[in-house]
Amino acid sequence: MPSETNSTQESDDQDLVGSPSREELARWRHEMADASARELLEWAIGRWGSEIAMVTSFQAEGLVILDLIRRELRADEVRVITLDTGRLPQETHDLMDEVRGRYGVDVEVFLPDPEAVAALVRSGGANSFYNSADDRQACCQARKVEPLRRALSGLSGWITGLRRDQAASRATVEPLDIDSKHGGLLKLNPLAHWTWAEVWEHIDRHRVPYNALYDRGYTSIGCAPCTRPIRPGQDPRAGRWWWEKESEHKECGLHLPIAGQEASAWRRQEARA
Ligand code: SF4
Repeated sequence: MPSETNSTQESDDQDLVGSPSREELARWRHEMADASARELLEWAIGRWGSEIAMVTSFQAEGLVILDLIRRELRADEVRVITLDTGRLPQETHDLMDEVRGRYGVDVEVFLPDPEAVAALVRSGGANSFYNSADDRQACCQARKVEPLRRALSGLSGWITGLRRDQAASRATVEPLDIDSKHGGLLKLNPLAHWTWAEVWEHIDRHRVPYNALYDRGYTSIGCAPCTRPIRPGQDPRAGRWWWEKESEHKECGLHLPIAGQEASAWRRQEARA
């Protein structure tokens, strides 16, 4: 599930009503500067409890966070939210079922508005996203961005699996941020500084379930028709919207892109070697 102008979204000049102020954010960042992912989660859950939820597309990072929350912190009050776009691979659905059994978690599934999907299909066909960048974004908007807005309604904060070395657009992700795109919610990115190798070290050590597609060369997993395995040396998100130009942001709109950063090499095979 979706990276932003991480840093407090500088385009906003004023604090949003009801959201943490810039001063609070600066203080929290200072206080938690050396915190581990687990400590950051513990701090946020202790402060906001069930008002903070994790949103996951069941990629490797999300599973690490879920494992930290449920197995290590035993924080069962934290809601686990996912967006079912209607185009997910079977392997992701299989993993969801495995996760339900393993952690006893009630995964909250948010679906797209059927009318919005019907309008998309009526105007451009079932696979309109291949036609143009605008069509692709319209599909992501209907199937991901709008459902996420509904899912976040009423929350004080959300937890994501964003990491800096996932993509150029995520190179300045901060562990703690304010998400002005969603009304000024706290946005917690506890794995912001983790490497791909660290993610898999945690998965291997604690036998955390993971999406079977990782064993078939996938490094980033989204909707089935828009995701494919990458070749050695490619950017880790090259398999997402693979028909689009390399220069275009590999983002779906859940997280706003940042321009002009360097992507780092990121391959699961290397991480686990
Ligand atoms: Fe549509 Fe593809 Fe975006 Fe999924 S990833 S919402 S199928 S354009």
